[in-house]
Amino acid sequence: MMRAQSPGMSGITSPALEARVTDGDDPPLPTRVMDAEGMMLVESTGRVTVFNAQAAAHFGIPVPLRIEHARLPGCEWVRDDGTPLPPRESPLGRALAGEPVEASVWHVLRPDGTRVALRCTAAPVRARDGQVAAALLRTHAVEPLPAPALDASRLLAEAGALLSTSVDAEAQLEPLLELLVPALGEAALLILRTPGTLGEEVLRVAASLHADARRHELLRDLLTRYPPDSSMPGGVPPALVSGRVGRLPILTEEHVAAIARDAEHARLLRELGPHGCLSVPLGARGGMLGALVVLRSNVLRAFGPDEERFLTELAHRTALYLENARLYREAREAVRQRDEFLGIASHELKTPLTPLSLKVQLLQKQVVSLAREGKDVPTERVAEALDVVQRQVRRLSGLVDNLLDVSRITAGRLRLELEELDLASVAAEILYRFSAAAAQAGTELGLEAPVPVVGRWDRLRLEQVVTNLVSNALKYGAGRPVVVGVEAHGPLARLTVKDHGIGIAPGDLSRIFERFERAVSDRHYGGLGLGLYITRQIVEAFGGTVSAVSVPGEGATFILELPRGDIPEEWLTAHAAPGPLQDA
Ligand code: ADP
Repeated sequence: MMRAQSPGMSGITSPALEARVTDGDDPPLPTRVMDAEGMMLVESTGRVTVFNAQAAAHFGIPVPLRIEHARLPGCEWVRDDGTPLPPRESPLGRALAGEPVEASVWHVLRPDGTRVALRCTAAPVRARDGQVAAALLRTHAVEPLPAPALDASRLLAEAGALLSTSVDAEAQLEPLLELLVPALGEAALLILRTPGTLGEEVLRVAASLHADARRHELLRDLLTRYPPDSSMPGGVPPALVSGRVGRLPILTEEHVAAIARDAEHARLLRELGPHGCLSVPLGARGGMLGALVVLRSNVLRAFGPDEERFLTELAHRTALYLENARLYREAREAVRQRDEFLGIASHELKTPLTPLSLKVQLLQKQVVSLAREGKDVPTERVAEALDVVQRQVRRLSGLVDNLLDVSRITAGRLRLELEELDLASVAAEILYRFSAAAAQAGTELGLEAPVPVVGRWDRLRLEQVVTNLVSNALKYGAGRPVVVGVEAHGPLARLTVKDHGIGIAPGDLSRIFERFERAVSDRHYGGLGLGLYITRQIVEAFGGTVSAVSVPGEGATFILELPRGDIPEEWLTAHAAPGPLQDA
């Protein structure tokens, strides 16, 4: 006994099928049915069990006894551009391979050279063990309606109007696809490349649409469960890989087998139905933002050159709109960041001013009242007040220096005066400068720099870099020990600053080196978010790198690596260093 596969065939129990097959709920096609139904049942052995007179008329052949490998004697399945379709991709071939084919229009070249368009429905018939025992093919001759002329300029004008109505071009992508479906194909989707949270590339389906409501859900489901993935074979449209137009005349079983990630994926792909596919890159200003893909169920209507040109132009314009929208978003974000920064900067600049002016006012009052009494102000009181004043003035000028540095860097005016220096001595000098503040805070400062490590750097800028790293280690180091290490590493000098403080979350590790970026709340820690930005700019100007590793809650280590430049021979001999220097 055989088991039928397609919904329209349930209940078929014997090869005597003709009377029981109905045309049931086949979807309407853009064709006009011309005549009665042809029907054939071909066993997988090739034996023809049923082949009615109408089928013989459709294919223009006498009733065959056998049909080997789905090849109808003397007939050729062709695409509408005349190129032949392998018999295994024909409805009969697909059904014999186990795949049902819903009502769709196919072209056949008959032995007498005439061409006919047939509306075909095919279904595998399975034996009890599940194996395909036969395939049933039903045909109607149809008169294909002429393909609607493509009004490219109207569509492009409508697309332009759509995309320019909103500054958020992405919100208009779904309506944009409505212009293409069903005018150009039964389905369309738009895939965009976007940066992920760790800076990696993520592919995102920004919009998708299918003309058929059921398949629309199916397509959405398929794209959600099996999103485009550039690491999978066939996981992205060819236009995204090559940046060129990609064509797939028909999605064959072999394609499904090659691209399906599992059985469920293959099932969804098959359920979408046989379709051809055209993908065009979304290119703008030299970059590639993604791809626009159109699927066509009527695979015999190949995508023509006009359609390809139109889609390419539409994709280009869409990419320009998306690019402009991105620039607009970035400009707004930059303005927002600047405003936020101005708020923080004013607050930071004001903070030292308050104790400064309080101290000055107090001193003033004391001077006046003591003068009235004819007395001098005690020296230690003046010294103590001046100490506060000096500390706050230093803090203020540090902030202003940072601001000036940023504008210098932005304008490309960071000048370096290189000289031979020993990084170990520079680190020792900076630690010495911090020793009083560290002792006051109860923080232990350590230096591990057994040998001089010489290179050619700008002294003030190098001091600034080390100062920034050490001051951060003290600021965020929760009072626990801070250790600075210096060593030579081949042609590089390496300085590490290790603390055991609050640490940095993995997602913030690279961001904190950007301008104004901070990973702590300004309520708990002051700061402009500029120190590490300036540090990185200086280090890069030296040709080096700076990075951080951290376990949140356990501390952070900042690693600075600087090329040592051309170091004169005398320097090396004068500071002959055993160990690490020798492997340089
Ligand atoms: P800020 O003036 O805010 O300290 P920086 O550019 O020096 O600016 O640092 C940027 C951010 O990096 C800080 O706001 C803080 O979140 C984080 N950070 C820097 N150094 C450390 C560290 N040693 N431990 C933990 N977080 C740090």
